[in-house]
Parts: sequence; C-alpha cells; structure tokens
Amino acid sequence: MLRLRDTVTGRVAELQPRDAGVVGLYVCGPTVYGPPHVGHGRFALVYDVLRRYLEFEGLRVDHVSNVTDIDDKIIERAVTEGRNWQEVAHDSEIEWWAAMDKMGVARPTTTPHATDYIAEMIELVSDLLGRGAAYATGDGVYLDTSTVKDYGLLKHQSVESLRAGARVEVDEDKRSPVDFVLWKGAKPGEPVWDAPFGPGRPGWHTECVVMSLALLGENFDLHGGGEDLIFPHHENERAQAVARGKRFARHWMHNGLVRVDGEKMSKSLGNFTTMSDLFDRSDARAYRLVVLGSHYRQPVEVTERTLEDATTALQRVDSLARRFVDAPTDATSEEAGEERKRFRRAMDDDLDTAGALAGLFSALRRANALGDSGDLRGGGALARAVLDLFAVLGVEGEAGRMAAGADVQELVRRRDRARATRDFAAADRLRAEIEQLGWVVEDTPGGTRIYR
Ligand SMILES: [Zn+2]
Repeated sequence: MLRLRDTVTGRVAELQPRDAGVVGLYVCGPTVYGPPHVGHGRFALVYDVLRRYLEFEGLRVDHVSNVTDIDDKIIERAVTEGRNWQEVAHDSEIEWWAAMDKMGVARPTTTPHATDYIAEMIELVSDLLGRGAAYATGDGVYLDTSTVKDYGLLKHQSVESLRAGARVEVDEDKRSPVDFVLWKGAKPGEPVWDAPFGPGRPGWHTECVVMSLALLGENFDLHGGGEDLIFPHHENERAQAVARGKRFARHWMHNGLVRVDGEKMSKSLGNFTTMSDLFDRSDARAYRLVVLGSHYRQPVEVTERTLEDATTALQRVDSLARRFVDAPTDATSEEAGEERKRFRRAMDDDLDTAGALAGLFSALRRANALGDSGDLRGGGALARAVLDLFAVLGVEGEAGRMAAGADVQELVRRRDRARATRDFAAADRLRAEIEQLGWVVEDTPGGTRIYR
C-alpha cells in the first residue's frame, strides 16, 4: 500500500482509507482570474499521478478539487478590464481546463464552485458565531484562533510564535493578528450576498473547509495542495473544522514549487511562465516528465535544458513502442513481472516518481538489448510492461498505441497508409473509427499517434 509523508507528523506513513477501497482526496484548485502558469501545472500533475496510481492499485478515488470563482484577484481584474467578475471567472476557467486537457490531467471527479456553496458557508459562519469561536467587527466576521487549542499544528509553530511573527494588514479590524476573516463585509462595487451577520462575501479559507466536508464527509482521507498553502490557508481550513467540533483531513500532503530559471529563460526563450507559452515551445508530455523527474516534495527546475532532456527521453519511449508494436501481445516474462514490482516499490515509497522513472528507463534499455539479440518475444513482453507503467504516470502517446489491441493497431496502420497516399477521405473515416473505440487521435510527422 502507498506510504506518503504526512505534513503534520513529518513521517512517511501508510495511507489507510476511512472506507475500504475508496480514497477521498481534496486538492485546492485554481482561483480563476488569469492564465494558468507552470506552478499550477505542477500541482495538477502531482495529484493526477497520485490518483492514477491509486486507481492502478485498484482503489476508487473521490477526487474533489474546487474552483475559486469569487476572490479579490477576480474582482481586481474585472475592474481593471471593465468586465463583470462572472465573465472573468468563466473565461479563466475555460483556459484552465484547456491547459489541463492538454497536459492529460484527468478531470477531478467533482469540481465544486465557491459561488454554489455560499449558503453552506453562511451556515458555517453562523454556527461559529453561535459557539463563540468567531466574532463580528466593523468589516466582517473573524475566527478567534485562541479558541482552537492546537492552532499552528500544520505550520509546527505555537500560536504565540505565530502571533509574534504575523503581519498586521492595516485594513483589517481584528483582535489578534493571527485571527482570519470568514466573511468580508460588503464594499461598494463588490459582489455581495445577504447573511444574518450582514451582507458580504466569503473568505477563501471558508470555502475549502465547507466544500471538502460537504463532499467527502468528516475525517476524510487526504488533503493536498502546494506547500505555499500550508500556512495560512490549510491551517485555517482545519481551524474552522476543529472550532466546529468536526474531524478534518486524516492525512496532509504538500508538493514543492516550480523554479523557472528566469535569467536564462528571458535571454533564450522570452517569458515562459504560463502554461500556454510552455505548450508553444514544447510537448506537454515533456513538461510532465520534467515534473515527475523530481520527487514531488522537492522544487523542480523548468528550464530550456530540462525540457530538452525530457523531449529526448520521450523519443526513446516512443521509439521503443514503435519497435515492438508488432511483438506478440500474449507474451509475458519474469523480467516484466519484476519490473512491475520495482515500479510499485518506488511509487509506494512516498510516490517516488523519480525512482520509478529511473527504473523504467533502465528497463527500456534492457528491452532494446533483448530485441538486439533477436529475442523479440522477451523484448516485447518487457517493452509492453514498461509502456503500461509509463501510462500509469500519464506518459502516453506511442506508448498508448502499443497498449492498444491488434484491431486498433491495424486501423492505425491503415490510416497511416491512407495519409501516405493522400487519401484523406479514408484517413478521416479511419480516424472516426479509432475515436469510436475510445482513443484520441493526433497527427504527428512520424504518423498517427493515439492515446486514451
Ligand atoms: Zn483550499
């Protein structure tokens, strides 16, 4: 079973689901106010791979990831551009999912929107006020962190030291610098909802605690996000649940951030921080490989160099698939079985994708060596195992083609022949046929590429 480092204890521990066979996962999603950048891409990929791996292990994953569609940044952009805030949020969300699709990130099973949960957030704030855990001031409602006895648990700091280090925002009217806003009082020109404690809009921390508990239930399995969210966002989500007497996430997981080599980038490639800039310059699969080449808790460098190396590595994966595409599909071997075990050992050890990839590339070399020695059956069996495991990491493409059944492979070959003879009507017909069987078809200079 998968073992993951827990942010609270600092220890790598087995993930034990609350309900047998199902993992409830909540991941803080995007605030939709602008184009997604490479940092967003990383968290999306990390949790995509986590989910793929759990599913590969036979578990069902209830993957909830929110869309923050009301926020200061959305309002600011709307004002700057003279548009309404709903339009900014809507258009940015379309951009977000387009980038996720391009990266092959599976859609979360549920994507709650903050504005659909306002009534539940109002109920939470009323309840906290009723319990004496929150107080109203001239500009909103705040949580009284002194009522949460282990506040600072995620940050590994006492409430006193947090208080000493906190910055006080001049426009906030609260009792302690670590208290945080649950409900922002109405301001002119801002979106507003009615509430018993005064009109206004919810704070960001209130959104995630409400939606995670509503959709996954108390004591859910795993809460994730980027390490920049540990404090104050996750600390504050948890504080509200505790103040309400509810059990929150059983396990916390945080990924490291992306470093873009700014200087080198700007000289050679120009600004390269949004996902769409990245896709203009490199295969989305190369970015996935760069991200997975580092342990999820380590920072990752996205540079021209690391993307080029990943592109070269991908060519080796694709050429392995092409080489063994006609190998017997029923072949199995002891070595292929060993490779699957090695892969699971690495992944079970705190989702060590870097270790898993190193093992797969070494097996890729062995499969080629078997092919060189004339053992197409042994080489094919190992190649198939390797490509299936790459697909578990979401690295598909030619790999997908080899995983396809003989019928689909035959359609792909016929389509490549049709395109070679410029019979585009037949090529279109064959494309539709392949798509009907559940594959995405892409044209590349090397021929038809398919993936699921
Ligand atoms: Zn959140």
